[in-house]
Amino acid sequence: PTILGIESSCDDTSASIVKDGKVLSNVIANQSVHEAFGGVVPELASRVHQQNIIPTVHKAISDAKVSKNEINAVAFTRGPGLLGSLLVGSSFAKSFALALDIPLIEINHMQAHILAHFIDDPKPQFPFLCLTVSGGHTQIVKVNNYFEMELIGETTDDAAGEAFDKAAKMLGLPYPGGPLVDKYAQLGNANAYAFPEPQIPGLNFSFSGLKTSFLYFIRDKKKENPNFLEENMADVCASIQNRIVSVLMNKVKKAVKETGIKQVAIAGGVSANSGLRNSLLEAEKKLGWKVFIPKFEYCTDNAAMISIAGYYKYLQGEFVGQDVSPLARWEI
Ligand code: ATP
Ligand code: FE
Repeated sequence: PTILGIESSCDDTSASIVKDGKVLSNVIANQSVHEAFGGVVPELASRVHQQNIIPTVHKAISDAKVSKNEINAVAFTRGPGLLGSLLVGSSFAKSFALALDIPLIEINHMQAHILAHFIDDPKPQFPFLCLTVSGGHTQIVKVNNYFEMELIGETTDDAAGEAFDKAAKMLGLPYPGGPLVDKYAQLGNANAYAFPEPQIPGLNFSFSGLKTSFLYFIRDKKKENPNFLEENMADVCASIQNRIVSVLMNKVKKAVKETGIKQVAIAGGVSANSGLRNSLLEAEKKLGWKVFIPKFEYCTDNAAMISIAGYYKYLQGEFVGQDVSPLARWEI
């Protein structure tokens, strides 16, 4: 089957064609309007989605060199995400399905981030664990099957990506600062400064205490030396990254111990982080894990993960009617 996938949960408009489980196209229109605001402005996001959706879908279809009539189903992100943004993608998907008289497939965005591992080889085998670390979520998920997922740990406050972005903001770096912290961190000493490890029971995470201690740390250091940040940016970035990554890794190690599952995948934008990737590869060597790290283009928001998830739902014959409406919150 040939599936058109549409993603519009946050600030990226994306469309993709998957044919028989192979990605033929994956077009992403990023929104730059938010940069000046230091974060995504929901009202602006939905307006730009409206401008981008038709050209993005058009390009996905032409890049894939298929004709509209060959498309067998439309998969779209139903949630979770920004309601105004989701409405644009879901309304478009519904109209498209109605016009071509083909089935409609709803996709949970957080499941799709995990199912991005089924785009390329090697693919994980069920059951596996997935650490999903993005701008809005931090989750450890036990993946029993394509659409049978158990949330076994999650953040109680900020997401890991948010922790990176907020740390970056305190350092005066532009939004989204996660990738910049990573860039500086690669030049610095990760043990230069020690930040406290949050003590949260079970497999849950917390980053708000770390955020506060980082804020005070910078304030105090700047009092001693106004040029502290300029002089020590690499060491500060390496140290805070080291702590965020160790918080993530310690919980994943605990999850592996508790479940006995040694196949560990990561998903979401923070999987691009070099510190996290290195720690996982080290665990693979030392602890005998099998680690799965997606290609960067499939880590952040993209429609290829939506159309691949749609492909598996198509095989199961799982369709929805025209009365479906988007969900800002939707449990995995
Ligand atoms: P969600 O899927 O939860 O709705 P999202 O899709 O908006 O959130 P993603 O696009 O998956 O989030 O990830 C974006 C986040 O990843 C941002 O917080 C960004 O700073 C962070 N990020 C991207 N690259 C890196 C990196 N190399 N190091 C650290 N953080 C990074
Ligand atoms: Fe996402």
